[in-house]
Amino acid sequence: MSDDVPAVPAGESPAAPTGAAADVAAERAEELAALRRAQDDLADVDRALARLDEGTYGTCEVCGVAIADEVLAPAPATRTCPEHTGAATAAGTAAG
Ligand SMILES: [Zn+2]
Repeated sequence: MSDDVPAVPAGESPAAPTGAAADVAAERAEELAALRRAQDDLADVDRALARLDEGTYGTCEVCGVAIADEVLAPAPATRTCPEHTGAATAAGTAAG
């Protein structure tokens, strides 16, 4: 009878730990980014609720114009009219 000593401990992967750790780090970064986006969305919703209390919900924070229902329906936390939303994301674009 010979002693059967396993070369690789059971349950341990022969893959390089550095590669797996790098994958985990990348996944963590993505999850962290998703979490931050969710926190931003939540902050927007909180702000929208506060504006609802103030009676300013549904108006642009920049120019004060009423935001169309078509805009608010898919994105209820919208704080600016389409004109100023575009200006915020694509500043420098010459209109017209
Ligand atoms: Zn506006």
